[in-house]
Amino acid sequence: MSLHHPAPISHHPGEELLLAYAGGGADEAVSLIVAAHLAYCAACRRRSRELEALGGCLLQELAPVPMASGALDAALLKLDGIKPFERPARQASGDCTPSVLRPYIGGDLRDVRWRQVGPNLSYVPLFRRGAIRARLLRGVPGSETGAHRHAGLEYTLVLKGGFSDETGSYAPGDLQVMEGDMRHSPVADPGEDCINLAVTTGPLKFESLLQKIVAPLFGF
Ligand SMILES: [Zn+2]
Repeated sequence: MSLHHPAPISHHPGEELLLAYAGGGADEAVSLIVAAHLAYCAACRRRSRELEALGGCLLQELAPVPMASGALDAALLKLDGIKPFERPARQASGDCTPSVLRPYIGGDLRDVRWRQVGPNLSYVPLFRRGAIRARLLRGVPGSETGAHRHAGLEYTLVLKGGFSDETGSYAPGDLQVMEGDMRHSPVADPGEDCINLAVTTGPLKFESLLQKIVAPLFGF
């Protein structure tokens, strides 16, 4: 079932990202944001299923190789140390929160306890694995995140409201991927608060002095 969204989705994950997701090769946070996009986007759900099926066919075509004794145990031991991304069971949401997000939030978006960064911006850290962080961001209409570049990749999925920047306008279900030296200054659209799921693989590099000082204190 697709989540209700008022505007058609115009920003999708690229083929490479979808392939990494479908093949199980994406990091947990990146898998989460792609899975949340799929909750909104029937076209990408279809494409992801096709890519999964394609991956399965390729594996079947590989000739079986005899394994050294103990190789399976060693492989299983290694797997024990890795926590695979599990797609949690679907639960009903009262406010159209994508079901993959609910276990991370502990409920719906309306249950979230926001931490204020300034008068107009708030956030909630969801989890961190090394340099990769997943968080929710919320901006009141018209609020500015501040011009910045990136030390890594920044994935942003709109959950409610919308925002605009130099690259276009983003509505619920739209996924933006920014990398390295791509500079942008997102502004929340008028109307309702803009709530995004954001995944970063490195810190944001703000331009204003105040933000340069404040951002690291909040882990941005
Ligand atoms: Zn899509």
